Amino acid sequence: MKEKRQYTVVKSEDEWKTLLTDEQYRVLRKKGTERPFTGEYDHFFEDGVYVCAGCGQQLFTSTSKFDSGCGWPAFDREIEKGTIDYETDQGFGMVRTEILCSKCGGHLGHVFDDGPTETGNRFCVNSASLKFKQ
Ligand code: FE
Repeated sequence: MKEKRQYTVVKSEDEWKTLLTDEQYRVLRKKGTERPFTGEYDHFFEDGVYVCAGCGQQLFTSTSKFDSGCGWPAFDREIEKGTIDYETDQGFGMVRTEILCSKCGGHLGHVFDDGPTETGNRFCVNSASLKFKQ
């Protein structure tokens, strides 16, 4: 087992439950996945910045967002190096790369290498993990 990362924003489970909606808590803190095509930002393309719904750290900009057709918001890069942590996820009989907020450890989704832009990356993110700011 890998050693647990030390995050800047650390809260108890009770504090997170108070702070987040049930769906945000399930996704961010319990590594849940929202049902495809249901998230608030799946088909949302306003200009602005997406921050972590748990701690407010800036994660993605609208300029990196694209319509992947997979049912979740997709981005081709993080806003700045170091804002996303990567973990190997071997759940559900697959090997995937989990993406987490580097400040609070909140689960965001997964990153895949089949992106359509020059980065080749497709950050597949739950809407519940994000908050849009104009
Ligand atoms: Fe966070």
